[in-house]
Amino acid sequence: MPNITVLQGGCEKVTKMRIAFLSIHSSPLGRAGEKDTGGMSTFLRGLSSALGEAGHKVDLFTRPDSAGKDLVREIKAGVRLVCPDDGLGPLSKQELYPHYRTIAESIDRFCRGDNSRYDLIFSHYWLSGCVGQVLKKNWNVPHMLMFHTLGRAKNEACPEENEPLLRLEAEKELARSCDLIITAAKQEKEKILTYFDLPLEKVALIPCGINREIFKALGIHQRLRAKEQLGWEKKTKIILSVGRIEPVKGLDLLLKAASLLPAEESFQVVIAGGDKSSSIQVESYKKTAARLGLEGKVYFTGIVEHEKLPFYYNAADVTVLTSHYESFGLVALESIACGTPVVASPVGIIPELIATGNNDDFIGYMVENRNPPTWAEKISRALNSNKPLDQSVLDTRLAPYSWKQAASELITVINSL
Ligand code: UDP
Repeated sequence: MPNITVLQGGCEKVTKMRIAFLSIHSSPLGRAGEKDTGGMSTFLRGLSSALGEAGHKVDLFTRPDSAGKDLVREIKAGVRLVCPDDGLGPLSKQELYPHYRTIAESIDRFCRGDNSRYDLIFSHYWLSGCVGQVLKKNWNVPHMLMFHTLGRAKNEACPEENEPLLRLEAEKELARSCDLIITAAKQEKEKILTYFDLPLEKVALIPCGINREIFKALGIHQRLRAKEQLGWEKKTKIILSVGRIEPVKGLDLLLKAASLLPAEESFQVVIAGGDKSSSIQVESYKKTAARLGLEGKVYFTGIVEHEKLPFYYNAADVTVLTSHYESFGLVALESIACGTPVVASPVGIIPELIATGNNDDFIGYMVENRNPPTWAEKISRALNSNKPLDQSVLDTRLAPYSWKQAASELITVINSL
């Protein structure tokens, strides 16, 4: 790909970037809600599309589903999905680390054959970071890294998580050796600076975006129709949870809080996300629900296609985010964009998004503790608030979160490197 410089507005010179995104353990086109595919894929699709629309060139590198040949396809204007064959065949996330050099070699080989050169490498998750460090040396270009989650933060926040020392050590080394770390929420930036003892300028904050053409609030009648079409009674209040099924999402708290809702409340807890690999965890939550007297009131949908999720958010009366830890928390943005309030723990973007509001621009509640009665009280209040949320409030509160804006901030950051 040639490096292009164009004239914008008749005078200003804007260099069009060529960026190699690395997403080794999970395909940006994978099904969000599966074990290893979630907000990071939404992020990669949203940001790369916006960069492509702005005239930049992005190659999204991931691993092929099977060994045999390189796969390349254009997925959006200026954006290619590239899967160089590394000869390793299918590997789980846990099996990848020992092979990171082989994977880097396969990307390098592909790029030499394709005559592709990049101004920058942008790695996602620590495993891609390891590959990115090898390529940085080979290509002599800057390496930017986004952790998406931090092993240490997961372990500290949730006792049931047990991220290995190998990951913790690798993240420490990557934080030191990469050129710049990108993060999407203020509290994640604080964590990175403190955990790795880094200078302020080593971490840049770029909030995620939200596709508001898909995630938008429907009118009251359409919302009721959505509820009906999903098979829910109009009068039943829907308490929605969306995300991968993992201990760190803290769903036990949602179940405990639901069991404490006022007896007169007619409600259904709908939990979206989780593939076959989550079945043991789902069974255990079902048993907990039965023990708490929630028989028939908790429904696991499995994965909901990303494009269908706006329908669920619109049909719901509240979205609950009980996570012990999120590096961003896209689900909260998606729900609010669909006009449905959230009740959320103080993770990721939540303190910036919710805690700053007042009664006039209500979008939900942040609950600082993990005390089920407090959550039940807030969920009950949100269920009985006016929905959909006020459109002008949504527009104001969601204004900082657009992929176009994120792409433009990213380019500014790259230019400063
Ligand atoms: N998601 C989805 N279908 C599902 C469950 C989740 O499309 O069944 C998407 C959801 O819309 C969101 C992402 O997966 O964009 C989850 O992102 P989040 O940052 O909340 O959590 P993560 O998966 O990164 O921990």
